[in-house]
Amino acid sequence: MIFLMIFYFILGICIGSFSNVLIYRLPESKSINFPASHCQSCLTPLKFYHNVPLFSWIFLGGKCAFCKSKISVQYPLVELAGGLLMVLAFYKEVNGFDYFELLKAFFIGVLFIVLLAMSIIDFRYKGAPDLLLNTAVVLSLLYAFSFDGVKNALIFAAIFYALRFLLSKYKKQEAMGLADVYIFACMGAVLGLNLGFVSIFIGAVLTIPAYAIVAKKDYELPFIPFLAAGLFVVWLFDDWFLEVLKFINNFVLDLYGIPHG
Ligand SMILES: [Zn+2]
Repeated sequence: MIFLMIFYFILGICIGSFSNVLIYRLPESKSINFPASHCQSCLTPLKFYHNVPLFSWIFLGGKCAFCKSKISVQYPLVELAGGLLMVLAFYKEVNGFDYFELLKAFFIGVLFIVLLAMSIIDFRYKGAPDLLLNTAVVLSLLYAFSFDGVKNALIFAAIFYALRFLLSKYKKQEAMGLADVYIFACMGAVLGLNLGFVSIFIGAVLTIPAYAIVAKKDYELPFIPFLAAGLFVVWLFDDWFLEVLKFINNFVLDLYGIPHG
């Protein structure tokens, strides 16, 4: 099993490495596979051994092998995060040598890497590429792999439009970007109805300190990173959140004197 986990880690840093390419090229509509990877500064094409995820950056000391200009620490960080997310997915979803579980771990791990890439793009460009949004929804439906998953994704998309309509009326201006509807659909598919609601709530709560920080500056807060974080936290600690929901449920039933098991 430990070898499988290492395999997932390596897979994760490779997918993280690919998502670095997407982060830089998708928003500027550059081709994904052409031209080959090159230094952002001197444009020298990289040799394959300059392009090994995580390790090249460390061996090159964060500098281009040709012109010695600094390479952003974002590259190895996203790669490392990719590896860790895949290991976490493996740890959470896989209990034995089971192809179905291994696939589920793969889909959810890649989903979180895609969400991370989208969050970084959203912070920079205030939007997310359609390609990543669609990929995220497909991955979460594959993860759910059930009719309920599709149903819950649609329900959460509908909830998004209702919420957006109400918020826009209340604020008297467009509230929430349309890209968020995709993340809502992911929440429904991955978490189901109850935990899905919790993840929207957690995502909204996470924006409060961020709003407090940026309130004075004229900065429009991206929403995708917070929704993605809400989805991630609730997925990771689902047992704990289910306990809390049960506690609240029983508390309300007690309040009205309704017997429960
Ligand atoms: Zn260079």
